[in-house]
Amino acid sequence: MTSTYFHEPAEASTNMEVPARVLAIGAHPDDIEFGAGATLSKWAQAGTAVMIVIMTDGSKGTWDPEANPLNLAQVRQGEARKAAGTLTGSAEVEFLGWRDGELKANDRSVSQLCYLIRKFRPDAVVGHDPWKRYRLHPDHRAAGFATTDAIVASRDPHFLPELGAHHRPNSLLLFEADEANHCEEFGEVALRLKIEALLCHRSQHLSSMEINNAGEGTELRQFRETVRSSGERTGALFGVELGESFHLIRGL
Ligand SMILES: [Zn+2]
Repeated sequence: MTSTYFHEPAEASTNMEVPARVLAIGAHPDDIEFGAGATLSKWAQAGTAVMIVIMTDGSKGTWDPEANPLNLAQVRQGEARKAAGTLTGSAEVEFLGWRDGELKANDRSVSQLCYLIRKFRPDAVVGHDPWKRYRLHPDHRAAGFATTDAIVASRDPHFLPELGAHHRPNSLLLFEADEANHCEEFGEVALRLKIEALLCHRSQHLSSMEINNAGEGTELRQFRETVRSSGERTGALFGVELGESFHLIRGL
């Protein structure tokens, strides 16, 4: 028996239409670059306007027990702005200021994102996949659910009417997807800008990128190679040379 509530699993797709406006939402200052950096860079080069939203202050992102969280939060804001500029040329960056590790998908975070979606009016939204299995970091899960809930809130006129005129994006792309069904192919320029943007997060070199900045660049070369081979492995799954994969949801 068929029903209008039954959805066939979509075929895997490659390269959607370039959006005019995209809003990318990450839990921490480097998550978007890792998950979707090359795609955003490629789109920005094609003329897409990009807004980047970073939900937490990243103040616990260090292995140094003596580090001052307030100083680290400030440093990370500067790094994130530099990375966004590197990636896209001119992305707006919004910091929502949740304390690192304490992000919740609740009325407050959903309202914050709903407000930004209605204000920026993106065609596409990019964010964490909240359904990624065995993902331990609670902020990634919370950022994902806040994003999916905010899509629903922003598209329906009777949700949060005080936050501006409702807006329905066309596409939602979830990175680090539990079940990837879509790939964005990219070239050498976008790969280079993704790597350069990641390297703007200097406070994360040791903890996230295994670069200690003390040697003569071996670890740096290794990191560049790791990002490239990750793009190659993902691309191979979709029959392209270099790719970033997502779970793409249409008909929001
Ligand atoms: Zn993160």
